Amino acid sequence: THDVHIIGGGLAGSEAAWQLAKRGFKVRLSEMRGSGEMTPAHQTDGLAELVCSNSFRSDDDEKNAVGLLHHEMRRLDSLIMRAGELARVPAGSAMAVDRDVFSNEVTRTLSEHPNITVVRERIDSLPDSGMTIVATGPLTAQALADSIVAATGQERLAFFDAIAPIVHRDSIDMDIAWIQSRWNKRTEASNEDGDYINCPMTKEQYLAFHQGLLDGEKTEFREWEKETPYFDGCMPIEVMAERGVDTLRFGPMKPVGLDNPRDATPEFPQGRWPYAVVQLRQDNKLGTLWNMVGFQTKLKYGAQIELFRTIPGLENAEFARLGGLHRNTFLNSPLVLDRQLRLRNAPHVRFAGQVTGCEGYVESSAVGLIAGMMAAFELAGREWAPLPTTTAMGALLSHITGDAEAETFQPMNVNFGLFPPLHDVKKKARKEAYTGRAKQDFGDWLGTIGEAVPA
Ligand code: FAD
Repeated sequence: THDVHIIGGGLAGSEAAWQLAKRGFKVRLSEMRGSGEMTPAHQTDGLAELVCSNSFRSDDDEKNAVGLLHHEMRRLDSLIMRAGELARVPAGSAMAVDRDVFSNEVTRTLSEHPNITVVRERIDSLPDSGMTIVATGPLTAQALADSIVAATGQERLAFFDAIAPIVHRDSIDMDIAWIQSRWNKRTEASNEDGDYINCPMTKEQYLAFHQGLLDGEKTEFREWEKETPYFDGCMPIEVMAERGVDTLRFGPMKPVGLDNPRDATPEFPQGRWPYAVVQLRQDNKLGTLWNMVGFQTKLKYGAQIELFRTIPGLENAEFARLGGLHRNTFLNSPLVLDRQLRLRNAPHVRFAGQVTGCEGYVESSAVGLIAGMMAAFELAGREWAPLPTTTAMGALLSHITGDAEAETFQPMNVNFGLFPPLHDVKKKARKEAYTGRAKQDFGDWLGTIGEAVPA
């Protein structure tokens, strides 16, 4: 027997399970991977598998909204943040992790927990009764997705997400590429020389590469792809290339702050910035795998290998994984969920993670964390004190559960645009003002909520 049935052992489901179990509530965690099922993006049976990038993005909790979310999650004893810390790899001012170390730690912690039963099973319909958290993510299996559509009476929304290729480090030609962080920025986790491998391009090479992106054969999707928007942070490079010849050079292929040591002269002893660069970032703790930053693509596999091997330094690149494109599934949450993430017309069912219309690993985990806490408070018969909307979690939650326009609702990363504005503060000081206010209000909230324990 269990108090809560959690469906989906991804980032949100794992965090929700942890928040309930550590408070003494019994959880059944159903995950279909490991029962012979797979999603189009996952590759292992591990809980909380990261399907694409290995980055939790900025860890700066003073000037960055996602860094602030890290801070709040840590204060709530997040398992995702704790495992992330354990699996951390160098990434400049960002927080990146070894995906296997990370997923193994989450899997181990939950599997060993006396209050959690991990069951490898696919769930095909929403349970009729019993407290439930649905955290099945952007790739929710079809039968359950149909059941959710039936329960909400809403057409399912979808958009496309792309993933970037991963290269074996020892196949990169380091006589051409070099290691350096942009502007030599570093953090405690940084490597001595820098955290990125940079592949330089001359103007001629860049123009040829740009043309190659336009000409390369793409995977074609159904007609409705044309009407389905891309999520901004995940736009495929060939789509960016179509927007103009320089779009990439001002985007993921930006060369500023990167001095190519092979171009050193007496006048520029550090070297010169190349015309464009391709950057790779460490993807695993061992440092054997590096991902191509911003290189999400829907080029066909053959075309990817051919074109990416024209990049200086990657002539002999071996790919651990090629790029690809996938569907995303999410609810029209402002319409169908209440302020506590419950289905309005079936309040025993709560939703968490990307399926609620947040976007990103950290955001999905944060919404899982809150959903787990809300469920715990409900079971304990305690009133839930709403999170202040001035906090990162509160801002994100309030966007999802009511403040966003239902008609144009799109998955959203956390950002300061979701916070109640601080017009009176000068622009330069505004980010710090947002995070300062958030930390204060979050602390006050923490001080008043109290604990939820089984009756
Ligand atoms: P997931 O982590 O996907 O977890 C859902 C779990 O539910 C999975 O384990 C799945 O197997 C299981 N499941 C599904 N249906 C059922 C069922 N019927 N019964 C039982 N189990 C089921 N975010 C980033 O921050 N950076 C990125 O680089 C990034 N890349 C992405 C690339 C792709 C292709 C996609 C689809 C998304 C990407 N995202 C990225 C967005 C998002 O952050 C991740 O998808 C994140 O994993 C969402 O967390 P989640 O817990 O909601 O879902």
